[in-house]
Amino acid sequence: VPLDLLQFFSELIEQERETVDEHHELIFQVTGNTKGFWGDRGLLQQIFVNLMSNAIKYSPDGGAIKFHLIGKESQVVFSIQDQGIGIPIADQKNLFQSFSRASNVDTIPGTGLGLAISKACVDLHGGNITLYSQVGQGTKFIVSLPKRGTGKGEGRSS
Ligand code: ATP
Ligand code: MG
Repeated sequence: VPLDLLQFFSELIEQERETVDEHHELIFQVTGNTKGFWGDRGLLQQIFVNLMSNAIKYSPDGGAIKFHLIGKESQVVFSIQDQGIGIPIADQKNLFQSFSRASNVDTIPGTGLGLAISKACVDLHGGNITLYSQVGQGTKFIVSLPKRGTGKGEGRSS
């Protein structure tokens, strides 16, 4: 059975809304046809939770956090955009490796594992993860996943 992504992410967003502080505004936007996606709930949730917790943690002054779900013909794309501290260009390419942290995190705690785990989940689904970021402006992570992946991560959604 394909996964109803609209419902799946709506529930996760509602869960986030209950815990997020008053300085952050969560925006949920959906475009296109998100139907026909086969994939693993656990992997998707890992990706979502890691990216969302980063977006909140690395925007200590608050701001909008926009989750955009886009359904295309043979893939789904989702992005999480914040208005936080951003990531220096020099640090960007290594961030998906375990224990890698950017040089501007100052006193914000973390182990450097969340993105490595997210990347592993995206790979299992045969997808792709990229980022756009500017220091002091914010960060956007973009995940694209094939609707019917060739990866090992699918098959448990029934
Ligand atoms: P944890 O393992 O608890 O998630 P972490 O948040 O430090 O620790 P990752 O989630 O892997 O580890 O992120 C790696 C690094 O990437 C972070 O330490 C931070 O420097 C940078 N980073 C990730 N997301 C953002 C973001 N939204 N804004 C700014 N920097 C980010
Ligand atoms: Mg993290």
